[in-house]
Amino acid sequence: MSRVHNFNAGPASLPLAALELARDELVDFEGTGMSILEHSHRGKDFDRVHNEALGLVRELMGVPSEYHVLFLQGGASQQFATIPMNLLHPGKSADYVLTGGWSEKALAEAQLVGKARVAATTGVEENGTTVYRRIPKPSELDLDPEAAYVHMTSNNTLFGTQWHAFPETKAPLVCDMSSDIMWKPVDVSKFGLIYAGAQKNIGPSGLVLVIARPDLVAGGRKDIPKIFRYSTHAKENSLYNTPPTFSIYLVRNVLRVLKAQGGLGAVEAKNRAKGELLYGAIDENPEFFRAPVEKDSRSYMNVVFRLPSVELEDKFVSEAKKAGLVGLKGHRITGGIRASIYNAVGLESVQALVAFMREFARAA
Ligand SMILES: *Cc1c(COP(=O)(O)O)cnc(C)c1O
Repeated sequence: MSRVHNFNAGPASLPLAALELARDELVDFEGTGMSILEHSHRGKDFDRVHNEALGLVRELMGVPSEYHVLFLQGGASQQFATIPMNLLHPGKSADYVLTGGWSEKALAEAQLVGKARVAATTGVEENGTTVYRRIPKPSELDLDPEAAYVHMTSNNTLFGTQWHAFPETKAPLVCDMSSDIMWKPVDVSKFGLIYAGAQKNIGPSGLVLVIARPDLVAGGRKDIPKIFRYSTHAKENSLYNTPPTFSIYLVRNVLRVLKAQGGLGAVEAKNRAKGELLYGAIDENPEFFRAPVEKDSRSYMNVVFRLPSVELEDKFVSEAKKAGLVGLKGHRITGGIRASIYNAVGLESVQALVAFMREFARAA
């Protein structure tokens, strides 16, 4: 078997142990004579998996017991709509902090539901597109204390920026953590609602994790279809209808690995070591590796940089691939190089990338 160094942005690298467990029990799950894929979502075997996965989210993130933990479908993009449908009551307005393409999309969906305004943006126009190179300073946030909620994106997958301190808000803080969920411990009680598509940091696609304060769930709008209400799914322990059972199973496997690594404190230490190593290689040759993001806004999950020419960037991506380093092409909006170094990407993969970068720069 040969595994590459996988720097894909999402779906992305998964811990080998989580995949191996899935392989080993794929056709006969725990002696039940069938795959977990073939089990009823109402049966006791799946129920164990489901509750273990939900319990591991609570345990790893230290979720306050009164908060709801939900497994939903439709991805983070559906949450862009579901959040305002539930929380944006008539006559209220929601605040959006724009730090990248995903937050722009979240705002656009909210504006189809009700009133939503830009409370801050770090976007600048460049060649007809909006680009983002930093996280706003606290003084730049023009927050409405009466807002239904404040929406932010903790890590900006496309532009490679990340919040390193969360803002203080009067209104409930709603955070899209799709690309950095569980990269380190966070104080969940500071948030009204956290959501994350699983496919960057904690599992495969098909599942979105929502963690929500009980008053927001109970007080959600009732004039929307039942399937879109958080209260529906909270009441049924995320088993209102058939959930994505295999995705939940795989998330469980991944969370077991994070727990075995020592929890999110240990995960953070590893992620910081990876990020420092990679940014160190960029900073030691800034003429060649050009980092567009301001230093204090750098992401530890998606590391972006440019090379002196587009031709060199293309060559970098194709030669890296030949060397077993895949997924390094930047997003089509930003161009350049992007190395996504999520939880499951090992230090040895980042070491291999750094060695490749040094050699590439030397030979260029
Ligand atoms: C990938 C991503 C999304 C979109 O997720 P889907 O599951 O494809 O809808 C939203 N927000 C952020 C921050 C992302 O990284």
